Amino acid sequence: KLYNMVQDLKGNIRVFCRVRPIFNSEMKGVIDYIGKDGSLFVLDPSKPQKDARKTFQFNQVFAPTATQDDVFRETQPLIRSVMDGYNVCIFAYGQTGSGKTYTMSGPPGRSATEMGINYLALNDLFLICDKRKDMMTYEIYVQMVEIYNEQVRDLLAENSSCTKYPFMLKLLILWFVIYLTINLVFILDYISTLDIRTCSSEDDGLSLPDATMHSVNSTMDVLRLMEAGEVNRAVSSTSMNNRSSRSHSIFMVHVRGKDTSGGTIRSCLHLVDLAGSERVDKSEVTGDRLKEAQYINKSLSCLGDVIYALAQKNSHIPYRNSKLTLLLQDALGGQAKTLMFAHLSPEEDSFGETVSTLKFAQRVS
Ligand code: ADP
Ligand code: MG
Repeated sequence: KLYNMVQDLKGNIRVFCRVRPIFNSEMKGVIDYIGKDGSLFVLDPSKPQKDARKTFQFNQVFAPTATQDDVFRETQPLIRSVMDGYNVCIFAYGQTGSGKTYTMSGPPGRSATEMGINYLALNDLFLICDKRKDMMTYEIYVQMVEIYNEQVRDLLAENSSCTKYPFMLKLLILWFVIYLTINLVFILDYISTLDIRTCSSEDDGLSLPDATMHSVNSTMDVLRLMEAGEVNRAVSSTSMNNRSSRSHSIFMVHVRGKDTSGGTIRSCLHLVDLAGSERVDKSEVTGDRLKEAQYINKSLSCLGDVIYALAQKNSHIPYRNSKLTLLLQDALGGQAKTLMFAHLSPEEDSFGETVSTLKFAQRVS
């Protein structure tokens, strides 16, 4: 069967595909051909040669040899439009291990040439601030949160375990928590939940007013905050073993600009490292792991529905069906520009997930 993606850009939604290298040289790959025009051919390993080929079309396809810089260069115009007042959302979608975090943040212990989009984007925004300093003054603020099991957690809070309640209540709850050691992790999860505000007409225009906002003036500031956020994310993962692949991490950049004649702009850039899209086998997992999987499933399909509805220019956009889309409601509608990176693991044994990632990407493009 041949899948064909429509080539034209429907409005402001773009889909890029990135294929990571094969690490185990004994594994066979399923990517047959990557074209400069954005076409991608995969081979179904279970089919005879003549029926095995499936074709997909994207706005761009990045081969395993593409560098961080190659990827950033194609993303840069979109990111720059934030400085002109456009809202931009960039998502990394794909199964765990397909390279989402590599694209957005870079590999662990990254060198200067391995920095991901989050860092390169901010670096670029600061360059523009400097270039335009005679005409415009900009202020840039960042927030960083994760969504795990439909709960939002601040990754930049000083004490990331409690943000919603006053000190005495925290102590009381803590005592209670110690008393109920069995449920420790879940109660902490609940009390650290942040509320999403959906009314965009609020004067500060923030959808998460309770999450810590940091003013940033240099790439050093950004690096420091990103590292702090990553540490906070890792801390919670020890108790639930590699939770980072099962939560969505959202880096929010708020830009305010003022020109010499007093005109102002306000926009935001959301950089989202999504939870792993892999389907789990219901017969193999139970309890918390199954609940996590169901939450991820639901929020990713809601995101797909929202982007699809936006691409179709539907009058009703189903933002309210998940925390992720609710949080991004103001950032996704209107004149906003959206870019989805579909990440592929090219190995033969990932073929099922590869096809489901490609189908997801095909639907939203
Ligand atoms: P995910 O976040 O989707 O689970 P990761 O970004 O952690 O995946 O990538 C899995 C592994 O593959 C990591 O060790 C990462 O450094 C490596 N990797 C991913 N993409 C690339 C790439 N394009 N080039 C080199 N290594 C990569
Ligand atoms: Mg990751």
